[in-house]
Amino acid sequence: MDNLLDVLTTSQNFHIYLIDKDGEIIVNPEPDLSWSRYLENKPKIHKIFPNRYKELLSNSSISKQGLYMFSYADMFRNREGMRILMVPKSEIISKLKMSNVVTALLIAGIVLIVSVPLSWLASFIPSKLQATIVDAYDEIKKYTNIIDRNIATSQTDKNGVITDISSKFLEITGYQKHEVIGKNHNFLKHPETPAEHYKDMWNTISRGTVWTGEMQDLSKSGQEFWISQIITPEINHKGEIIAYTSVAQDITARKIIEKMSVTDSLTGLYNRRKIDAILSAEINRFNRYNTEFCVLLLDIDFFKKVNDNFGHQVGDDVLVNVSEILQKSIRGTDFAGRWGGEEFLIVAVQIDLQNATILAEKIRSTIEETQFNIVDHITISIGVACYQFGETVTLFLNRADEALYEAKESGRNKVIAAKGEKEV
Ligand code: GH3
Ligand code: MG
Ligand code: MG
Repeated sequence: MDNLLDVLTTSQNFHIYLIDKDGEIIVNPEPDLSWSRYLENKPKIHKIFPNRYKELLSNSSISKQGLYMFSYADMFRNREGMRILMVPKSEIISKLKMSNVVTALLIAGIVLIVSVPLSWLASFIPSKLQATIVDAYDEIKKYTNIIDRNIATSQTDKNGVITDISSKFLEITGYQKHEVIGKNHNFLKHPETPAEHYKDMWNTISRGTVWTGEMQDLSKSGQEFWISQIITPEINHKGEIIAYTSVAQDITARKIIEKMSVTDSLTGLYNRRKIDAILSAEINRFNRYNTEFCVLLLDIDFFKKVNDNFGHQVGDDVLVNVSEILQKSIRGTDFAGRWGGEEFLIVAVQIDLQNATILAEKIRSTIEETQFNIVDHITISIGVACYQFGETVTLFLNRADEALYEAKESGRNKVIAAKGEKEV
């Protein structure tokens, strides 16, 4: 039995006690103190582990805080509730502690080695990410500002009511943002913009297609401006138009140059170059669609005298006034130009010789009846010719010129229709 108990209670690493359910010590690592139940003055477990004896007695096994206890009750079925209590020896504890310290140091080292780059990454990545986001945001903001300041954009709802507008567009219009938001885009429309132009635009975009074109608008101060516009419908997932976006370019300067290149600077009528182009275009139209057109060649009578008597400036004013009368006398589809000095040429479309002569007569009489500043009354002579199939421009204009010459020769202040016309 002693041998068996020896085997059971001998260990290099532990002090081993064999105890029963009442805390009596059967085997003590110090042999003299064994068999406490039977021998006087031998300490019980209560004495040896005063703080933990309750725990030791109420449990059949323990494995914590430096005590390891296992039940031997199954092995020794004597109802004494035998259990073995193992207490690590101080050497092993210090050894363990030492190895724990080494392990701890090792772990700390590894943690340190890993955590430095990790913490660097942990701190650096978010700040880098944040910096990247801030940079990207700044970049977007910068470009948005550039776009806002330099590109005229506007957005409307599906009815054309402005919901947003860029600073550049506001600059062109001369309005403040609050003055345009909520207004229909067509409030900018120039009164001279043909209704068909607007209709064409709406027909295109309301079909969901992009419209590209030029638009003449009016600024807050009443100044006309031109924009080249791309209007894009915004369509939702159901295929419904929900808004329109317009990107526009201010083309006023180009339009002014274009206009200047075809306009006579004194009178504002078309210049000779433009009239030449119009004549070519009308001849083409005549050849293709057989659309009749005529010219009225007008020359102010004794204009030299106006200059001589009242000066060149007064002469210029008369030219301007005559031009206004011509412009008012013709239809929107006709063209009036300054042919040279005090000569004018009107291209009247979709008209025959008879009606062109009536038009010429109306102009002649209007001039005759008009009271001009300083010069009082002047008269005008007009030669009328209608284009004939196959004719060159030169030949055509020669006939008008001959008619004008005849008007002059026959006393001035007259309208003469050109010879060679079938109707004559
Ligand atoms: P008519 O045609 O009846 O034969 O006589 P006219 O005096 O008009 O004769 P003509 O055609 O020879 O003279 C045209 C004059 O018009 C000559 C020129 O002094 C004047 N003239 C031409 N261009 C201008 C212009 O731009 N301004 C002014 N003030 N005068 C001009
Ligand atoms: Mg002349
Ligand atoms: Mg003249």
